[in-house]
Amino acid sequence: MSDPKIRDIRTILTQPDNNALTVVKVETTEPGLYGLGCATYDRQPFTVKTAVDEYLRPFLIGRSVSDIEDIWQSANVSSYWRNGTVLGDALSGVDQALWDIKGKMADMPVYDLLGGRAREAAAVYVHPSGPDNEAVEDQVRAYIEQGFHYLRVQVETPGYQTYGAQGAGEVSGRAGTMGGPRAVTAWRGGIFEPRPYMNSALSLFDHLRSKVGWDFEMLHDVHERIPAIDGVWLAKEVEQYRLFFLEDLFTPEDQDYFRQVREICTTPIAMGELWSNPHEIIPMVRDRLVDYIRIHVSRVGGLTPCRKYAALSEMFGVRTVWHGPSGTSPVGHAANLMLELNTWNFGVHEWAVFPERTREVFPGSPEVRDGHMWPNGKPGLGIDMDEKLAAKYPIQERDMFRELVRRADGAIVRP
Ligand code: MG
Repeated sequence: MSDPKIRDIRTILTQPDNNALTVVKVETTEPGLYGLGCATYDRQPFTVKTAVDEYLRPFLIGRSVSDIEDIWQSANVSSYWRNGTVLGDALSGVDQALWDIKGKMADMPVYDLLGGRAREAAAVYVHPSGPDNEAVEDQVRAYIEQGFHYLRVQVETPGYQTYGAQGAGEVSGRAGTMGGPRAVTAWRGGIFEPRPYMNSALSLFDHLRSKVGWDFEMLHDVHERIPAIDGVWLAKEVEQYRLFFLEDLFTPEDQDYFRQVREICTTPIAMGELWSNPHEIIPMVRDRLVDYIRIHVSRVGGLTPCRKYAALSEMFGVRTVWHGPSGTSPVGHAANLMLELNTWNFGVHEWAVFPERTREVFPGSPEVRDGHMWPNGKPGLGIDMDEKLAAKYPIQERDMFRELVRRADGAIVRP
């Protein structure tokens, strides 16, 4: 095979289920040789499409597909200002597709290109949740029965909007059933109050450890919603429940508070799905303020930067748990798996359990069994996309502001 060039770059939008998925297809001058990459930014799919089609496409057509590193470095500074989320996702679509192409050219899975496997398969975590402790317990038991060992548990706070657990308070904004502040009005995104939330979360951990026991890994996501000093207190308070990790205790703006957490407890800390800039990430790893980096791989530009963050983290005893909600396409999950198989300092894979319809659009989606995600051994990322089927599921119009959550007095809650 002579030196194939980038012949075209196309952005494919599809929404087979709940999430707007964005995939970039890089086509080459070699007939039949193409690659796929995840560029999913589910809140702004059309912005990313514009960035790929109108800026990266004309910049990159004609480049040799072999030069992934130079393509990433040059595209990253091509618009001078960088480290933004939209360019990150756009760049990731191209970057992952180029790794996919390189793997196909070498007839190797991408984890082999990265240096080979450090493990056979990647343990995954799933997301039991429910309206009360008993309902979460039922789901926890069901997942354990299915072979899952890592479980992120979230329970609804009665009367309040709660991250990770649907239910009362979600839209109506009726608040105050736990004795917290009364809602001054109803907000579309619902009402959140820190103290009732912390009470319900602690009650859940206590319930699960006393009823189900200690023989599973318990994870929890605070989602940055509580005041920073309450976060410091919560980290100390949950130490007794021996979590696998406590996620997003603070916003990136407040992340210096992790220094205080480190001084008072050993609760393992996960952080990073909102990071997009190296300056947010490097000090947290270097100063060992987190135990798990939760970077959203497409948001920072794809496999090329993330394999470097993984290597940096290994040197500081920090492990990887790439952000993997249903807002990461199956192509993105396949890319995450490639890193996880190669990275020695891997923690766990966040798995979204895609419905059948999404899996049909993406033949070759990674298989999950026995609580682990397994590679299929095919060259590149090992996954394909049925474009005709994808076209049957156009992106749905979405009320972007529906999810904004407020305090009982109407002040916005971050994030
Ligand atoms: Mg999270």
